[in-house]
Amino acid sequence: MIESDFENRIVSTTFTGEDSEIESSLRPHRMEDYIGQNKAKENLKIYIEAAKKRGESLDHCLLYGPPGLGKTTLAGIIANEMGVNLRITSGPAIEKPGDLASLITNLQPGDVLFIDEIHRLSRAVEEVLYPAMEDYAVDIIIGKGPSARSIRLDLPRFTLIGATTRAGQISAPLRDRFGVLARLELYQPEELRDIVLRSAGILGIPIEPEGAMEIAKRSRGTPRIVNRLLKRVRDFAEVKGDGMITREIADLALQAQEIDYLGLDAIDRRMLESIIGNFGGGPVGLETLAATIGEEAITLEDVYEPYLLQIGFLSRTPRGRMVTPNAYRHLGLNPDPEQPAQMRFEE
Ligand code: ADP
Repeated sequence: MIESDFENRIVSTTFTGEDSEIESSLRPHRMEDYIGQNKAKENLKIYIEAAKKRGESLDHCLLYGPPGLGKTTLAGIIANEMGVNLRITSGPAIEKPGDLASLITNLQPGDVLFIDEIHRLSRAVEEVLYPAMEDYAVDIIIGKGPSARSIRLDLPRFTLIGATTRAGQISAPLRDRFGVLARLELYQPEELRDIVLRSAGILGIPIEPEGAMEIAKRSRGTPRIVNRLLKRVRDFAEVKGDGMITREIADLALQAQEIDYLGLDAIDRRMLESIIGNFGGGPVGLETLAATIGEEAITLEDVYEPYLLQIGFLSRTPRGRMVTPNAYRHLGLNPDPEQPAQMRFEE
């Protein structure tokens, strides 16, 4: 696959090799260190406490929301709070029904099985999951042809935690088997500031609260990005300053990365400008837009759009995506349709 600009961008929400070293040290392990997502957290705390009181495993949970918001982290915390093991896998990694059968037959009582990108499980694999989730059993076919017979193996009670960026793509029978559904939202700047301060504390990076806020405001509501930007700004502070991350240093560092004060990078701006320049501001269908800027429609929908929708720069209509007047103004363009759309007022 050709690596696109998108994958290389510093504000990409997808997991990169660079993230792995810092993510393991920065990942919160307890509910009280998991900042924000209060609604999901409060509900989960109650379910966890109730399950522990009854001495049972926790109900199966489906976590959904854009990448980088803390779904894997939350699964780890749930396992920790329940005092059980966590096994991590993903939809695309489970190729055959037998792969899943061997995974679940090796679980210990109460264990958490985390399946990332659960919407990408094949139908055949899903079929194995249904009795496992519902009856804690797996049906195994022995032999071939007319002499084939199925035997049922009992499984220990376990908790499946599924994560997905696209709840809409999960089949109804699978969705119905989850007792807990939790939607993760983009984070508020104050929450991201607290994440930056926590991460800086762990990594021993000197930072002023205003510096943390500046990084937070430019992180597209996403903890994965906030941690990545913190690292880049730290390098900048060490080389160009005295090591302390101030608001000015954060601003300079992020400007140097072409991340503007709202967290948009060159690719976001290109996408918005393309809708304006090529499609008169929209509406434009997702597939057409994706082809124009050379990205996959899924990537646009999962990764670019949530933040642009949240800050009100893009709206979804039945006929496609539209750029809002606020986005025109942010790009220094005139939202008035009577005026030439591509006139730039400021650079
Ligand atoms: P997802 O599974 O949704 O893609 P992750 O759970 O891998 O996201 O989170 C990415 C990183 O962001 C984690 O390594 C962690 O350091 C950080 N993070 C996520 N959520 C939080 C949170 N609520 N509080 C603090 N840090 C968080």
